[in-house]
Amino acid sequence: MLGTTIWLLSLSALLTAFLTGLPNVQFPTYLNFWSKSTQRLTTTCPQPLTSIDHNCPQLNFADLPDDLKMMRIVVVGGSIGGLMAGVALKRLGHRITILERSPTQLLHDQGAGIVVGGENYVFMLKHDLTRTPWWVDSPYRHYLDRAGNVISRSDYPQRMTSWDALYHILRANFDGMKSANVPNPPKEEHWGEYRHGCGVTRLETSPDPSNKVITAHYVNPDGTPDTIEADMVIVSDGSGGSLHYQLCGKESQRTYAGYVAWRGTVLESKLSPATQEALVEKFTFHHSPALQILSYLVPGENGSVERGNRKLNWVWYNNIPHDSEHWKETMTDTEGNLHQYILRAPKIRPEVLEKQLQKARDVLPPSFCEAVEKTDYPFIQAITDSISSRAVFLEGRVVLLGDAVAGFRPHTAASTSQAAMHALFLEEFLSQYEDGQKGLSEKDAKLYELNALAYAKDMSRHGIEMGNLSQFGNHPLARASAGRSR
Ligand SMILES: Cc1cc2nc3c(=O)[nH]c(=O)nc-3n(C[C@H](O)[C@H](O)[C@H](O)COP(=O)(O)OP(=O)(O)OC[C@H]3O[C@@H](n4cnc5c(N)ncnc54)[C@H](O)[C@@H]3O)c2cc1C
Repeated sequence: MLGTTIWLLSLSALLTAFLTGLPNVQFPTYLNFWSKSTQRLTTTCPQPLTSIDHNCPQLNFADLPDDLKMMRIVVVGGSIGGLMAGVALKRLGHRITILERSPTQLLHDQGAGIVVGGENYVFMLKHDLTRTPWWVDSPYRHYLDRAGNVISRSDYPQRMTSWDALYHILRANFDGMKSANVPNPPKEEHWGEYRHGCGVTRLETSPDPSNKVITAHYVNPDGTPDTIEADMVIVSDGSGGSLHYQLCGKESQRTYAGYVAWRGTVLESKLSPATQEALVEKFTFHHSPALQILSYLVPGENGSVERGNRKLNWVWYNNIPHDSEHWKETMTDTEGNLHQYILRAPKIRPEVLEKQLQKARDVLPPSFCEAVEKTDYPFIQAITDSISSRAVFLEGRVVLLGDAVAGFRPHTAASTSQAAMHALFLEEFLSQYEDGQKGLSEKDAKLYELNALAYAKDMSRHGIEMGNLSQFGNHPLARASAGRSR
């Protein structure tokens, strides 16, 4: 038994390090939980995981006594984190309503590329019943100098996906949404409900302490105020969401890290043969003082992972002091509005775009320069840090999940895994309740908070160290690159 646990722990640590590319991070207590999840995965789903099996691991919902298992759970925020919680808890028999403030039917391409971390992978293995291909393999990393020569290379197998690909698969599993990405959602007896255009403004409890119902106040797409009652609320409103600020206070707000990422994707077949050779099917980096750019392949339009249809996703970090003229110039859109966190083409002003393209020609290796120049819709994302001091409220009936707990710097490639880990925690806890429990038990509330905050602190620190070394420090690969280019 002990041997099995140790083996599972080692496997978890190895898989996490292997998939996320973070070999230096120490993983404390939450791995104990994680190993349990892995065990459940293998025991609940005995069929080969590559086959399509719509009955595994579904429950027979008809057998569940209504008042015993079912909670009414409201999830605030319908991005990757909210959807992961929704899918996992719906399959335990709970009634889930996701309220998403975005007014459009589908959220779209929030984050371009996502490096698949261990928990993200395990979550999808367990919960995607459509078995849709969702990642592109990247067998190794290599580092280029300014001239485009390879100065370092290491075998480092990783899997890369996109926000869009994950979103469509999760929607198919949550509410059966059909899309070009996933034309055949799984057959389920019980769907979740996804309401878009519904921004939650506050949560309210009854003055009567014996009444444990939580009322979520929200605004409908037509602007009318409305309410919904819940036994449990999961707040996955992201690092910029105002609801978790209300719960945690100001200290959970985002602080700017001193640099922005210019980001974008370009169809791989639009790239010249030389650039494809340099950047396709690998994780490529270039460092120079105060500059880092990286790229990897992700699924293309409609989630396609076919050669030629995939996209190259690039991320280029640039230092810009906050409130400087450079900041104002960069983040002011074509209509004169100043943005704090994100600015997307076509609202980026043409002169700002042209200046950045000129910088690409001046400082980037030729392959990266070509990728940047051929990108139709770049966007600028301010890099921020945020971390909450608590993750559980109202005796376990309100929990924070995903970026609402902590918004990491992208260098960690850990945000989506964090959301998956939280969803797996909740699934594990709720799956063991048999007595009409509403929300988390006292013991599980403590365990959830302890593990969520421990992971958040570790990963935040790691991201800050990596980002600051790259943008403000003396990065060894920047030195190596300068040495080769002289
Ligand atoms: C521009 C960008 C780039 C990213 N790049 C990467 C990457 O490369 N790799 C990676 O691993 N991760 C990346 N991420 C993060 C990744 O998308 C998230 O970590 C992941 O989606 C889990 O986040 P989340 O669901 O907790 O929060 P988010 O994705 O931020 O979603 C929060 C959701 O809550 C909604 N919301 C907020 N307030 C309310 C309210 N009051 N009522 C109703 N709805 C509300 C928002 O509209 C949003 O849809 C990126 C995110 C962004 C925004």
